[in-house]
Parts: sequence; structure tokens; C-alpha cells
Amino acid sequence: MSMKCDVVVVGAGPGGSMTAKTAAAAGLKVVMLEKRQEIGDPVRCAEGVGKRVFCQMVKPEPDWIATEVKGARIYAPDGSSIVMSEDKGGSEVGYVLERKVFDRGLAMEAARAGAKVLVKTRALGLRMKDGVPCGVSALRIGEPLQIEAPLIIGADGVESKVGRWAGIDTTLPLKDIEICAQFLVSDPKIDDQYTEFFLGNTIAPAGYAWSFPKGEKLANVGLGILGSRSKPGEATRLLCAFMKSHFPNGKVVEMVVGGDPCSGPIESTTADGVMLVGDAARQTDPLTGGGILNAMQAGIIAGEVAAKALAAGDLSKAGLKEYEDRWRADIGRHQARSYEFKEFFVKLSDKDLNQLIGSLSKEDISKMDLRGMLRVLFKLNPKLLWELRHLVV
Ligand SMILES: Cc1cc2nc3c(=O)[nH]c(=O)nc-3n(C[C@H](O)[C@H](O)[C@H](O)COP(=O)(O)OP(=O)(O)OC[C@H]3O[C@@H](n4cnc5c(N)ncnc54)[C@H](O)[C@@H]3O)c2cc1C
Repeated sequence: MSMKCDVVVVGAGPGGSMTAKTAAAAGLKVVMLEKRQEIGDPVRCAEGVGKRVFCQMVKPEPDWIATEVKGARIYAPDGSSIVMSEDKGGSEVGYVLERKVFDRGLAMEAARAGAKVLVKTRALGLRMKDGVPCGVSALRIGEPLQIEAPLIIGADGVESKVGRWAGIDTTLPLKDIEICAQFLVSDPKIDDQYTEFFLGNTIAPAGYAWSFPKGEKLANVGLGILGSRSKPGEATRLLCAFMKSHFPNGKVVEMVVGGDPCSGPIESTTADGVMLVGDAARQTDPLTGGGILNAMQAGIIAGEVAAKALAAGDLSKAGLKEYEDRWRADIGRHQARSYEFKEFFVKLSDKDLNQLIGSLSKEDISKMDLRGMLRVLFKLNPKLLWELRHLVV
């Protein structure tokens, strides 16, 4: 079987669906491929998003949202804690989504905008003409499918192959990948009001554990550890230990493991006829691991640039430069700063973490954003945070 279109989007996660929706709304003929038979399932995500930015991009349907939280509670290794309000808590705090419903809903929006959505269709490679990509070879419900298109957008997640096929270097060192394990847990002890973060090198070396409530005493309880500090099975082992210490009576009803990029902006996310979006482009926030909003934002930019580049008839890497420029000016700038924080925080001992959280216990941080909180932290702990002084001014 064969077909022809303007743009093939590989992957129907938040990045792919937002790209497909934007490009289709701009009048392009879009085909979006998803290898799974059910979009959004299984969920490899704690499902947290900041409310304000999310609502700027979509009008949420009530069933996309599992719960709405008041803020974030952050625990030091010694058990002391601080609370941040929802609007200052970062890109993962506000709504806890029901991604099985949300991802499907967003793909539906892309379809309503005019995109053709093909599930159970796996991209197998790029079709090439004179050394330039001219489409995608795929397998659709066991049958070969050839799609001719001058532009391919890889939104195929952390294990992305589109980048590699197009010769874009997306490899990350182990120190820039979080290895995560997560349980969906039912436990009366779950705090339904707050997203909780637990710091400590015994709990999650160079990472953190979390409990993201989903209502009715259900929560995504998980942890992520740096790849460079991990070994096979380590994330799951640590998660079981965390469950024992924090939710000893919790009932586990689902389990997922997965990787999350935590790098700075990579060198290139485009090639002739190809753009990468979301986890495929390593656009995740390296400090928090939050990638849903960045993938959606990058998807909007990619869809808009696709329409312009097709109208201009220039799909070369140079013709797609606007995509690089726009996402780097916004997502990339934040990502670079977060990366500096991450590189610093992964070096902290439990004693340092206790000192930092403890120093905030008498401050009113409820209305501070990360920058404001850092300023206060710096004032209280100048010696410990000296390395970050350039980020404080
Ligand atoms: C344990 C864990 C917890 C997380 N928690 C959060 C959180 O709370 N908040 C947050 O913002 N982020 C979180 N993240 C990160 C977040 O899940 C990702 O950043 C986000 O899903 C990226 O969206 P995406 O569209 O780029 O990729 P994905 O959502 O991964 O979508 C990629 C899609 O491409 C499809 N695909 C792959 N290969 C092919 C192929 N060859 N052909 C066709 N289809 C293909 C996949 O099936 C998938 O549906 C978490 C990640 C992990 C691992």
C-alpha cells in the first residue's frame, strides 16, 4: 500500500499530536503514525503538568485531568519539608493528567484538524531520493506501507530512531539519562492535595522519588536515578525500598520502567527534510524530567515552521532553521539553565540537601518561583551555592 502527503509525523505522543494538529490546521496534508494499537497506553509518565502553560496550548477536557493539586511538597533526606504553591511549582505541578485519555484526546484534535491518524503503524525507516529523505517506510497491521512526503517529523519519543535514520546525533551519555521506575499505587496514606518530591542519595541517587496523586487515594509513585549511577534493575530495587519505607501498605496496580532525557539542548534537531520534536529532540527539562509541555510547545513550532517551509518550497536544513531558532530561544534557554542546576544538584550530599531545605523552613516561599527561591537560598547558604552565583543575579 502507498500514500502521499506533505508531512509524516512519526509518533502520536503529546509532541506528535500537537505537531500534526498545528500542521493540519495550517492546511497541510498530514499523516501521523503510531506504532501502538492504543494511543497513550502504556503510560510511561508521572503525568504532572503546570496548569498555566498547559491551558495556553489546549482547552483541557475534564476527563483528561485525574486531579488538580494545590502545590508541591519537597522533602529533604531528614524528612523536613517545604511547600511551594501550584503556580510556582514548575512544569510538573498543577494537573495530574490521565494520559491514556489525554494522549488519545490530543490525537483526536489532530484528526479533527484534518490529520490522518494511523495506529498500529510502525515507521521502519526513511525513504531516500538523491540522498534526501522523501518519505517513510512503515508496517501497518502487518502490511508494508510506503508514504511519500517531502517532510518527516520525528516525535517518536526517548527511543527515537527517526533522528538516527536522518543522521542527527541524538545519543546521550549515561549521565544525561534518568532511569525511572514507577508504580500506580493505591494507599489511604496518599496526599491527594500535593505533588510530593523526596530527595536523598539513599532514596534516589542523583535524582528524586515522587508521589503524584490521581484522586481516590491513587498515585503514581516512582523514582528516577542518573544512568551513570545506576545498574540493571537498580531503579526498581530502589522503588521497592521506597515503597517499604513510605507506603508500606500500598497496593501496586501497575508498573512501568523507562528512560527520560536530562541533557542540555543537543547540537541539532533538524536535517534536510526532517525535524525532531519532544523527547526525540531531547527537549525535556533536565532538572525535573518534565517533558510533556516542552514536547507540546515544540510541536506547535514544528507545525508552524512546516507550513512556512512547504509554502517557501525549501525543506533543506537551512530552510528549517526557524524551528531550531524558535525552540532554542524559549525551551532551549530554560533547558540550558536547568541543566546547570541539575549538574550542581546531583553532586550534593544528603547533609547539603538537609541544610538547603532546612534553611528555607523559616522563609515564606509559598509565592516564590525557582529563581526567587534560589536567591533566598543563596543568601542563606552562600558558601554551599557559590558555584551557582551567576544564575542568581
Ligand atoms: C517514569 C517517567 C515519569 C515522567 N513523568 C513526567 C511528568 O510527570 N511530567 C512531564 O511533563 N513529563 C514526564 N515524563 C516525561 C514525559 O513522559 C515525556 O517527556 C513525554 O511523553 C514526551 O512526549 P513525546 O511526544 O516527545 O514522546 P512520547 O510521549 O514518548 O511519544 C512518542 C510516541 O511515538 C511512538 N513511536 C515510537 N517509535 C515509533 C515508530 N517507529 N513508529 C510509530 N510510532 C512510534 C510511541 O509509541 C509513542 O506513542 C516522565 C517520563 C518517565 C519515563
